[in-house]
Amino acid sequence: MRARRPLKPSKSPAATRSILSRLEAQHPGATTELHFTNAYELLVATILSAQCTDARVNQVTPAVFRRYPDARSLAAAELGELERLVQPTGFFRAKSRSLVGMATEVVERQGGEIPPRMEDLIELPGVGRKTANVVLGHALGVPGLPVDRHVLRVANRIGIARSDDPEVVEAQLCGALPRERWTRASDTLILHGRRICKPKPRCDQCAARPSCDHWKREWGSGPRAAGGSKRR
Ligand code: SF4
Repeated sequence: MRARRPLKPSKSPAATRSILSRLEAQHPGATTELHFTNAYELLVATILSAQCTDARVNQVTPAVFRRYPDARSLAAAELGELERLVQPTGFFRAKSRSLVGMATEVVERQGGEIPPRMEDLIELPGVGRKTANVVLGHALGVPGLPVDRHVLRVANRIGIARSDDPEVVEAQLCGALPRERWTRASDTLILHGRRICKPKPRCDQCAARPSCDHWKREWGSGPRAAGGSKRR
């Protein structure tokens, strides 16, 4: 059976660029909230951030980085000791195994350095496209557009993407934006999803509202808008 082609986003590439510009103006300086000083540290922090807040990860990583300052030391970690350090981030056994597995591969296959290529990063244990894109974009100077649940929700609501598959949404957004805008676009959509376009959106505070498909469907025309009593 032939795979179904993803539907096209309702917005043109030019409209997508314009909407992103408005959201970037609303969230100036959007960037990852994880603390790091190099690609190794950001990779460790991003693996720990699965199902955990960035703030919680930032409380844990200083001790992790002190104890394991590079991939070689992490590859040699005693699992129980590492588990105790990362325990507050949740799923600590699986995360510890991923961290040691990732570090071992980095040492054995990449000479101890975090590789600056998507193809190599996603081969590492515990590293998917989202994590790889975070590290590429923020620590290795290679544009990447991580798609997390916030990007998925916000982009689909506005109409600048149309799919529940993160890889399809990544391709749609990357296709509409120049490479140099990818990383900031993701950071902006994540922040917008955390602050404004939450599961219950605060549309009255949103810079994308005039162009948003979700808002138009819910509030832009028709009897609800005419009634005007429902607030968001
Ligand atoms: S108008 Fe509302 S639904 Fe649309 S992006 Fe803004 S907050 Fe989200």
